Amino acid sequence: MTTPRRAPGGFPVVGIVGGGQLARMCAGPAAELGLTLSVLAEAPDASAALVVPSSPVGDHTDTEDVLRFAEACDVVTFDHEHVPADVLAALVASGVPVHPTPDALRFAQDKLAMRERLTDLGVPCPRWVRADTAEEVEAFGAEVGWPVVAKTPRGGYDGKGVAVVSSADELTDWLARAQEAGTGLLLEERVPFRRELAVLLARSPSGQAAAWPVVETVQTDGICTEVLAPAPDLDPELSARAVEAGLRVAGALGVTGVLAVEMFELEGGEFVVNELAMRPHNSGHWSMDGAVTGQFEQHLRAVLDLPLGSPRPLEPWTVMANVLGGDYPELYPTYRHVMARDPGLKVHLYGKGVRPGRKIGHVTVTGDDLADLRERAGHAADYIRGVVTE
Ligand code: ADP
Repeated sequence: MTTPRRAPGGFPVVGIVGGGQLARMCAGPAAELGLTLSVLAEAPDASAALVVPSSPVGDHTDTEDVLRFAEACDVVTFDHEHVPADVLAALVASGVPVHPTPDALRFAQDKLAMRERLTDLGVPCPRWVRADTAEEVEAFGAEVGWPVVAKTPRGGYDGKGVAVVSSADELTDWLARAQEAGTGLLLEERVPFRRELAVLLARSPSGQAAAWPVVETVQTDGICTEVLAPAPDLDPELSARAVEAGLRVAGALGVTGVLAVEMFELEGGEFVVNELAMRPHNSGHWSMDGAVTGQFEQHLRAVLDLPLGSPRPLEPWTVMANVLGGDYPELYPTYRHVMARDPGLKVHLYGKGVRPGRKIGHVTVTGDDLADLRERAGHAADYIRGVVTE
C-alpha cells in the first residue's frame, strides 16, 4: 500500500473512502490548502485515483481494507454513503476521527430513518409511511391518493430505487425483496411541486456552520441536469426558512462536513424536504467557480475542524449544467470546441469513460444575465456529449 506523503509543516492527511468524482474534485482544493489526500479507490482507474497519488485499491465494505487504509489518515470522510454500519463502527473504534459520524450518516443512508427523524424534528416532509405488505400500500394510496411514490430505503441514487405507482400490484417485486431484506419500503404522497430546491451548507465538529444561497435544481429523467444559483425569484422569507431548516437538521443530527438538503417548493410559499446527502453534492458544484469558497474546499475545512470559508457568491448568477454520457466516447474534440466558443465557460471533466446517461462532467458559467448563462451552459454540456453539433 502506498503511504500518503505528508506535506512538511504538520499538515494532515485527509482520507476519502470512495474514488468517484466527488473525491476527485477535492484534489484541487487540497493541493491549494497544502493538505494531502488519500483515497480508498474501487479500482486503479477510478475517477479520483487518476489524480490522487495515494489511492490504494480496496473494498469499502471490507473492514480490514478500510482499517488498513485509515491507519495513514488523520481524518476519514466519504465520497458516497454506501459504507456499511459495521465497517463504520470498526472505523470509529480504531480511533480515527470520522466525519460525518456514523450516527449522522445513517440518516443519509436510510430514507426511512431520515423520514422518521425529520418528522420528529418538525421539519416539513411529504406524507409518508413504511409499507411491508400490499395491504399497507393499498391503504396508503387510498389515504393520500394515487399515484404514490415508492422508494427503497437504502442504496438508491439518481432516481434508481424510486418508482411512481398507481397500485400495489406494481410493487410486487419490490415488496418481496424488501420483505426478504426486512427493510420495508418508504411510500410518499406524490408532491405536486413547483420546482426542486437545495440547501447546501457545511458544519464543522465544533459547530461552526456556513450555508450557500438556496439553489434550484432541474432534473431530467430523475437525474440532475442543471442548477441555478441562487434559485430565481425565490421568496426571501421561504429562502430564510429553508436555510433555517437545513441548519437545524445539521445541528440536530450532528452533521459534520457538507450537507445537502433537497427540497420541493410547493405552491403557496411552502416547502417539504425530499432527502439528505452528507457529502459534497451535485447541487453544490456551481460553488467551485461561483462562490468565494467552493463546496470541496469547504468540506475539507469542515472535516478538519478548520475555520470555514465564506460561501458568498462572486456574481449575481451561476449556472451549472451536467455533462452526461452520450453516444460518442471521444470527448476531446467537442471539449476543445466549447472552450473556443465560450472563453467564459469553466469545464470540469471527471476522467470517466462515457456511458449513456452517466455523469461524466459539468460546466459552469457566471454572470448577470441568467437566460444567457443557461443557454451557454446547456449548449456546452450538450455539445461536449455530442447531442448538438452547431
Ligand atoms: P434519489 O435518492 O435516487 O436521488 P430521490 O428521493 O431524490 O431519489 O427522488 C428522485 C426524484 O424523484 C426527485 O428528484 C423528484 O423529482 C422525484 N420525487 C421523489 N420523491 C417524490 C415525491 N414524494 N413526490 C414527487 N416527486 C418525487
